[in-house]
Amino acid sequence: MQPLEAELEDARALSIDALADAIESIGFECTRCGACCTGHGEEEHTATVFPDEVRSLEAAETADVDGDGGDVPDASERDWRDVARPMPYGLTEHEDGLEGETFEWALQTDGCGDCAFYAEDEDGTGACVAHEDRPLICRTYPFSVALAGTSQPMGEAVDEEGVVRAHECEGLGRNISREDAEDLARALKERAIRELEEAIAVRDAYEPADPDPGEVVVHDSEGAKRPDGSPLERPK
Ligand code: SF4
Repeated sequence: MQPLEAELEDARALSIDALADAIESIGFECTRCGACCTGHGEEEHTATVFPDEVRSLEAAETADVDGDGGDVPDASERDWRDVARPMPYGLTEHEDGLEGETFEWALQTDGCGDCAFYAEDEDGTGACVAHEDRPLICRTYPFSVALAGTSQPMGEAVDEEGVVRAHECEGLGRNISREDAEDLARALKERAIRELEEAIAVRDAYEPADPDPGEVVVHDSEGAKRPDGSPLERPK
């Protein structure tokens, strides 16, 4: 069996009870500090989003947290680029921006480097304007599983309990109910499976796109795409 398939088998065998035990033992409550939704200094917010999650966010109803609707257009006018950008890792600098091939989408950012769906109310309390439709990486922050081929969120791993890793977050160490720990555990398992399925599909479908200078191509589980999410079609 190939390594990614072996990791996928392990992900499918993860026990929700054991994951919830680990999450309960580490402890977590979101303080709404916004640190996992914002950039840090020069570092832009960078979080993986799956293609179907991009489409969900394209259509998502958004809350008017900051009084002007946040940084994304209304759902009726929102398009792929408002939601996602090519994951920058592996791309190189070109005079007009980035170029090359990449293998994931990242949540779009605003002019401050924060997630485009992040907004603060008048008291400075942060919120996701698409909370109900937020991607799995957001639903499961600050946790990840220690399986090769799964993505790690922003922030150093600071704690580990069995297969569960916890990343830098001021909400760690707080009491969590069993129900919430189990919900998080289910989302964490779903994310690990989805990430590995995505990685296998990308590997199997990959054909070098040979981008032109200044061109970016994103390979995802649905094929090679342009930065606006449209399929890359090359003349035969
Ligand atoms: S989609 Fe929402 S929860 Fe996820 S990083 Fe953006 S603002 Fe935060």
